[in-house]
Amino acid sequence: MKTGASRFFKPRGACHLAVALAAVMAVPAQAEDLRAAVAADMPALMELYRDLHANPELSFEEIETAAKLAARLRALGFEVTEGVGKTGVVGVMRNGDGPVVMLRADMDGLPVVEQTGLPYASKRTATPASGVETGVMHACGHDTHMAGWIGAAQLLAERKDQWRGTLVMVGQPAEEIGEGALAMLADGLYTRFPKPDYVLAFHDAAQFPAGMIGYSPGYALANVDSVDVVVPGVGGHGAYPHTTRDPIVLASAIVMKLQTLVSRENSPLEPAVVTVGSFLAGSKHNIIPDEAKLQITVRSYSDENRQRLLDGIARIARGEAIAAGMPEDRMPTVTVADPYTPSTFNTVDFTEQVAASFRARFGPDRVMQVPSVMGGEDFGQFLRASPDDVKSLIFWVGGVPQDQYDRAQRGEITLPSLHSPFWAPDAEKVIATAAEGLAAASLELMPASGG
Ligand code: ZN
Repeated sequence: MKTGASRFFKPRGACHLAVALAAVMAVPAQAEDLRAAVAADMPALMELYRDLHANPELSFEEIETAAKLAARLRALGFEVTEGVGKTGVVGVMRNGDGPVVMLRADMDGLPVVEQTGLPYASKRTATPASGVETGVMHACGHDTHMAGWIGAAQLLAERKDQWRGTLVMVGQPAEEIGEGALAMLADGLYTRFPKPDYVLAFHDAAQFPAGMIGYSPGYALANVDSVDVVVPGVGGHGAYPHTTRDPIVLASAIVMKLQTLVSRENSPLEPAVVTVGSFLAGSKHNIIPDEAKLQITVRSYSDENRQRLLDGIARIARGEAIAAGMPEDRMPTVTVADPYTPSTFNTVDFTEQVAASFRARFGPDRVMQVPSVMGGEDFGQFLRASPDDVKSLIFWVGGVPQDQYDRAQRGEITLPSLHSPFWAPDAEKVIATAAEGLAAASLELMPASGG
């Protein structure tokens, strides 16, 4: 395969176009019905949201969270399995012959001390792998994801006469550490449960007004690699540098040379990031240490470009060490974290199809194509696990309260980003938009007429 894109892009047959067309034509009556139902469900969904927000749990520790979701799915009539991929939840609703649609929500919070001042702000603490106790917060909005996802499940469970197929609800753990999707797949998500034809999810967005929908056909989020470089030197007295091999100077040369991976070796038309986020060495003014450590984040879209960047880091680290006169047995070691978070690819024609129906439903002002981002999501694993059979889309739902968005546009305030201790989305709009959007897309993909 030449590029990652060609691996995932597949043309679609005419029958799917017919489905899309029928869906667009069917929108008006159904739109009113779904929207009214969402409005009626909102008080209960907001109650769920506030409970989830006040009680976040870290990656792979989503015990209470998973239990709450499992109970709700059971009450709606799903066959529910817990403990899939450690703490994941799978709910299956079989409703006759038809496609299998999987809706995914992620469940984990972040080690962030919440500072939103909301009445239902999290006061939870936990001790992550680092060993240092911290506050825990749904600073990425996964609480809105779960509430919108339950909202969609409810709408679809109440409308079984309007669709034919199988609905698979996936509550995924550990998105924030990039391991949850893989854990669920390794635990038989596609073998013990119906394998999806379509996989859908949404993520709240901290740069769009609340209720906006954004989508990116093709690559939507990046490959995320964490790379550790240990640079040995020969330590000694700071006043006698000629008796040492200074790892600080060597690591500095590596840092500078790494800049050329993007500026000189990468196609200007291909997005890539190499950021040295941590540089640790030494303990005192007059001591040359015997080691320096670099921590690097590497972002890319295609698998080929990812490998090129990773190979380049190893090549530059070694080359600079040779230039510094380091002996062969004192070369830098380069470690790439495994597993990594792979890029997320939105199946192009499927994305355009859902976007067209969203436009018809929500109006063109609320639905826009947006640039891809260099952030990461492990949602891409669900496509990569079966690239020939699965079509996948993750879309954004704007969460910025309108007044804050307007003030930011006027330059009066700076908006908090996702993962900020101040991120407080307009949850009501995110949840209502997402519940309606996920349910509407599912109804269109599993038409009662059989398509
Ligand atoms: Zn997230």
